[in-house]
Amino acid sequence: MKILKLIDNPSLMIVKTPQQYPWQFDKPFNDFSYAIKKKYGSRMQKISIDAGFTCPNRDGTKSNTGCTFCNNTFKPFYCSPEKSVREQIDQGIGFFEKKYPNAGFLAFFQDYSNTYAPIEILEEVYSHAVLHPKVDGLVISTRPDCVSEDTFELLRQINTQKMVWIEFGVESTLDKTLTRINRHHSFEEVKKSMELAHDSGLNIGAHLMLGLPGETREDFLNHATKINALPINRLKIHQLQVLKNTQMAIEFRDQPGDFIHWSLEEYMEVIIGFLERLRPDIEVERFLSHSPKVSIIYPKWGTKNDQFTRAAIENMLERGAYQGKNYENMDH
Ligand code: SF4
Repeated sequence: MKILKLIDNPSLMIVKTPQQYPWQFDKPFNDFSYAIKKKYGSRMQKISIDAGFTCPNRDGTKSNTGCTFCNNTFKPFYCSPEKSVREQIDQGIGFFEKKYPNAGFLAFFQDYSNTYAPIEILEEVYSHAVLHPKVDGLVISTRPDCVSEDTFELLRQINTQKMVWIEFGVESTLDKTLTRINRHHSFEEVKKSMELAHDSGLNIGAHLMLGLPGETREDFLNHATKINALPINRLKIHQLQVLKNTQMAIEFRDQPGDFIHWSLEEYMEVIIGFLERLRPDIEVERFLSHSPKVSIIYPKWGTKNDQFTRAAIENMLERGAYQGKNYENMDH
């Protein structure tokens, strides 16, 4: 890995001690994995499940082609819609409990839109996780236009038995970008669905991408301001990966000037600026995404999320940067 050193004058640094960070642990950002260990006393391992759902952006309801970046092909070995939900949970837990004997487990309904089915089907699918003795909670990933009052009522009921976390694909806070990437929903729909999820008492996550075509570094930083206004608990943020066999790959080839071309160091600068604007109570789950090497067209940084996180922490500590440092000075 490259040594990432972005600081010219470390003598200017002002480092907060852990006790002064609102999240009370020794990291300059509200690291999700630490927050989880603090709350639950152990790691919470997500077990990915493909329950055979599709999404309205692929089945023709809104579009046949999907979001322009979408290439939903990578899955853990145990995760397949040919297996029952129970089988996938058993095999996933069997694998991870050898690696992390003290971990708790969350059934992660990850692939496609996991609330996109009639309510009785959802109830049946989720019940396998609810009734599994080793599953501590459910994580349900979906689109903001695939939830209704009935969905939230079901999730609210399940949440009284096992914790339910919902995750919404936001991707961008700009409607012009959402249109360009063929999302077929607006940022307003994101806000409305999150408010309903919040009213239902669910833990809410958001997924955001940096580097979508037509967006600038200023746009990336401004996303933080709009994200701050959402009632979320967690944020997954990562770079756009242009993947083979996607519409985005064609756009990247034909209109390269519409994309930001950045080094890992430049990306880190944006991430640190983003974190400084981000509300301090939002737990941050990741900064980099990893598709299989053979699928990636751009960027080919080859750096893992944990390596990047360590380098970001080092840089933030050196310059006295921390999550929310500029939050109080912003209009909200
Ligand atoms: S990214 Fe999600 S919403 Fe978009 S096409 Fe793929 S599965 Fe559907």
